[in-house]
Amino acid sequence: MKGWTGHILRVNLTNKSFKKESFSEEFAKTWIGGRGFAVKILYDELKPGIDPLGPENKLVVALGPISGIPAPNTGKAVVAAKSPLTGFYGDGNLGTRISEQLRKAGYDAMIVEGKAERPTMLYIEDDKVEFLSADEVWGQGTYATNDWIYKKYGRGVGVLNIGQGGENLVRYAVIRSLEGRSGGRPGMGAVMGSKLLKAIVVKGTQPLPSADPKAMKELGLGDLKKVGAMDKKTGWSIQGTTGILAWCNEVAALPVRNFRKTSHGDAWNIDGERVNAARVATYGCPTCTMRCGITIHDKEGRESELDYENVGLLGSNLEIFELAQVASLNYLCDDYGLDTMSAGCVLSFYADAIERGAAAGDFKFGDAARAKELLRMAALREGKLGNLLADGSLRMAREFGHGSEAYAMQVKGLEVAAYNCKFIPGQALAFGVSPIGAHHREAWIIAFEIKHTTRESYGPEKAAKVIELQRIRGGMFETLVGCRFPWIELGWPLDNYPKYFNAATGLDWTLDDMYKAGDRIYALIKLHYLREFPAATRKDDYPPAVWFDPSNADAEGPIAGRCLEADKYDKLLQHYYDQRGFDERGIPTKELLNKLGLSKEAAAAEKYAKLSERAGQPQAAK
Ligand code: SF4
Repeated sequence: MKGWTGHILRVNLTNKSFKKESFSEEFAKTWIGGRGFAVKILYDELKPGIDPLGPENKLVVALGPISGIPAPNTGKAVVAAKSPLTGFYGDGNLGTRISEQLRKAGYDAMIVEGKAERPTMLYIEDDKVEFLSADEVWGQGTYATNDWIYKKYGRGVGVLNIGQGGENLVRYAVIRSLEGRSGGRPGMGAVMGSKLLKAIVVKGTQPLPSADPKAMKELGLGDLKKVGAMDKKTGWSIQGTTGILAWCNEVAALPVRNFRKTSHGDAWNIDGERVNAARVATYGCPTCTMRCGITIHDKEGRESELDYENVGLLGSNLEIFELAQVASLNYLCDDYGLDTMSAGCVLSFYADAIERGAAAGDFKFGDAARAKELLRMAALREGKLGNLLADGSLRMAREFGHGSEAYAMQVKGLEVAAYNCKFIPGQALAFGVSPIGAHHREAWIIAFEIKHTTRESYGPEKAAKVIELQRIRGGMFETLVGCRFPWIELGWPLDNYPKYFNAATGLDWTLDDMYKAGDRIYALIKLHYLREFPAATRKDDYPPAVWFDPSNADAEGPIAGRCLEADKYDKLLQHYYDQRGFDERGIPTKELLNKLGLSKEAAAAEKYAKLSERAGQPQAAK
C-alpha cells in the first residue's frame, strides 16, 4: 500500500497505554481517509446510546493520502466523535501542522479513548507517546495554551488544543490549532475536554508516504505556484471569505436579527472592504498560497482573525455593526474555543426569545457589551444562564417553550451557517440534508442558485446540485483531506485532485471513484443518525420552521412577501431522496447500500426503516 502509512495510533487516556495498529489496503481504498476513516471507525466502535461526554466516546483525528504533501491547500485534518450537540456522528476540519506531522510520525489517524485522571497533554514523536501534565494551562484560553506549547516545542510541531469552552463541556466547543484555525463545530472540543485532554502535540521525522515522491513533489510544488499566481490575479485573498457579505446583503441572504431580516443598511460597516482596510496581518493553513485569515484589531486592541461566517453571525445577526466589536466577540470565541457560528446563533436566539416573551433576560440586539459577558458565562458555564447558553439553541428552545423552537436556528441540533434562506430553497435543502446538521461546508449552493437559476424553483435540478456539491465538498475534500477554496474561489480544476491522489498512491482513480466513496460516507453517517434516533422522520431534514412562516416574510426588498413553501420544500426533499437512493423517510435503501459495498449495514438499515414506520415526532439532539 502506497500513499498511506498504513497505521493508526490508538491511545487510551484511562490507563495511559497506546498501540500502533495496521489497517488493510481494502479499508484504505474503501474509506480513503479523513472523514471516511472517522465515520467507519466511529460507526464500528461506538455503541449506540453512549454519552458523548463520557469516557466511552472516542475522538478521531484523521488524515488523508494527500494530507501534508506539498500541493495546493493540503494542510488540514479531520476531527470527529459522537457529538454532544447533535447526539450522533459529528466532525469538522481545521488547518493544522498535524496534517503533515502525524503522517511523518507514521500514522494516518489517531483514536483517543477513555478519560485521563488529570488534565493531560499528549506528546507524540514517531513511535513515542507521552502523557504529560497540562495542569499549568488548564483553565487558560487557546492563545495562551498555544504559546505555552510553542515555547516548549517550537513552532514546527502539529498542535490541537482547547480553551475553557471545551474544558467546561460547552456543547459547541471547537478544537483549535495554529494562531487562528478552528474545527469540529458539533462539540469536538467538548469531547476533548470530557477526557481532560487539553492538547495534542505531534512531531514526525519520517518522510511522507508516497508512491513516487519525486513526481509528487514536482507536480505539487508546481501547482502551488500556479494557485498562488491565480490568487494574485483574482484578488481572492484581499477580502477572503468576508467579500461575500456585501453580496449577501444585496440579494437578501444576510442573517440579521436572528435571521428575521435579510439585509441591513449598516452592513457596509462590517463588509469585506472594511475588514481588508483594517487588516493587521494575514494567516493561513500549512501549504496554502492563497491565505484567507485576515486579522484586525478588536475593540480591546487584540488581534482577531475574521471570516464571513464570524462576521455574519456575531455581527449582522446580532445587529452589531461596529467591526472592532464584532472582532472582540470573535476573539473571545476563539480564545475560549467556542464555535463562532453556533455562539452567534445562540446569542441571537436568546435576544429573539426575550423580545418575544418566551424567555426572561436583559439581552438586546446590538448590545455588544452584554454579548461579551454572555460568551464568558457560556464558556465558563456560569450559573443557570451560562449553563443554558452552553447547551446550544435547540436545548434552550426546549427549556423556553412557547413555540420558540421554530426560530431556534438549527437543524438536527447544529446551528445554521450565515446564509439566510428565508427564500433560497436550494440552500435551505442543503442545510436540511447536511449529514451532520446545518453546516455550509457540505453544499454551498447559494451562489449558483441565485446567479444561475431561478430562486423560485424547487425543481430536481437543485437537488442534483446539492448532491453534486456534497460529493465534492463533503466527500472528496473531506477524505483526501484538503481545502476546497482553490476550486471554489479560483476555479482550480477538480481533476487535479485525482492526479494528486494517484501520484501519492500509485492508483488510477477518477473523480467518479472519489464521489462513490463520498456517497458511501454519506450513507453511513445517515445510518449513524438513524441508529441513535430510530424514530427519525423526513421532518428531521427540514430547515428551521421560521423560514416557512409568511408572517416572517420581508416587508420590502428583493424577496418582499416571499418565504419558503412547505409543500414545495417537501417535494424538493423527495427529489433529493430519489436521486440519492434514500426511501421516503430518508433512509438509504438496501439496493443503494449493496451498490456502495455496505451489505452488512443494509440489514441494520432495514431495521431502522421498520422502527421509523412507528415514528412519533421528529427527533434531534437529546
Ligand atoms: Fe486555509 Fe484559507 Fe488557505 Fe483554505 S484558503 S487552506 S482555509 S488559509
